[in-house]
Amino acid sequence: MNIILSIDYEIFGDGSGCMDSCMVKPLDNILNLCSQYGALLSIFAETMEISAFQASNLRKSEADLVCQQLQQASKEGHDVQLHLHPQWQDASFSQGQLNPLDSNKWRIANLDIDEQTQLIKTGKEWLENLIRPVCADYQCVAFRAGGWCIQPSHSIIQSLQENNIAIDSTVAPGAKNNSRADWFNFSKAPQMAYWKVDTDVLEPALNGIYELPITTSKIGILNHLGIILDRMTNDLPPHGCEGSYSIPGVNESRLFSKLKKLSNLGHVMLDISTMPANALIKITENWQRKFPDDPDVTAVAIGHTKNFSTRSALEFEKYLDWAVQQNHQFTTYQQWLKKH
Ligand SMILES: [Zn+2]
Repeated sequence: MNIILSIDYEIFGDGSGCMDSCMVKPLDNILNLCSQYGALLSIFAETMEISAFQASNLRKSEADLVCQQLQQASKEGHDVQLHLHPQWQDASFSQGQLNPLDSNKWRIANLDIDEQTQLIKTGKEWLENLIRPVCADYQCVAFRAGGWCIQPSHSIIQSLQENNIAIDSTVAPGAKNNSRADWFNFSKAPQMAYWKVDTDVLEPALNGIYELPITTSKIGILNHLGIILDRMTNDLPPHGCEGSYSIPGVNESRLFSKLKKLSNLGHVMLDISTMPANALIKITENWQRKFPDDPDVTAVAIGHTKNFSTRSALEFEKYLDWAVQQNHQFTTYQQWLKKH
């Protein structure tokens, strides 16, 4: 089977964290592991924050390192694709300090179609301008919505089509988040390895762009609980990467956020930052077993640089080692598209 290793490349959604510790260093770590095992990475770069940093006098150097890293990774055959968190629109700095982001724009799906189309166009052009000087045939072909907030998806799909983006890779079948401020609900996703969409990301269509979903699986509730508890007690974020997962202005009770986590218990993504190797292997095998008639099936792993810890690196290495032994092929969105 094929494996796409995707990683969301960004600081925290409220603007906390710094690019060096939450992006550049952990990505270096991941890229080193990938090169040891001949694996390719697909980096979903959140272009709005990088260009906001680029435009600021005092923080520009952080963005410069990010851009160099994306160019270098592309030269080595890794893929870079588009990830957007619209709260970064109009981001500004005062004496090097980021001013509060616009949390009304947290969900790209809540924006109107003109704004969506413009953001996607700007992000795609930004990536192509960055990567083409080092990889002449580079194309931005894939998209993942920030915080998985792609629903309702009609207008976003239209905006992606207008911008010649051929793949969305946001849907994580079975996953859901009930908070009003950043909801998504993929519980009705089709049981397919990929499908085409033209109005609703969960509705297979004859024409349109591809939905290439993030691989998910059911695991035992106790097993999942064990993984969460183990991570809470034994794991630390990447060195120097500190930030907050909360949405500014949204007060969610601790009880509600705990219940939210429990409602997803037993259902996991193929997440290379948070899952131990044995779970990653199980989730990948379950995915393969779901599609016995497709020997060429592709599993899409996800991860985040900002929570890719020393521990994640150890587990990711074991997973890579297993994948190589199984003769699974690492691929990227650009390569996948050429075959479909
Ligand atoms: Zn993100």
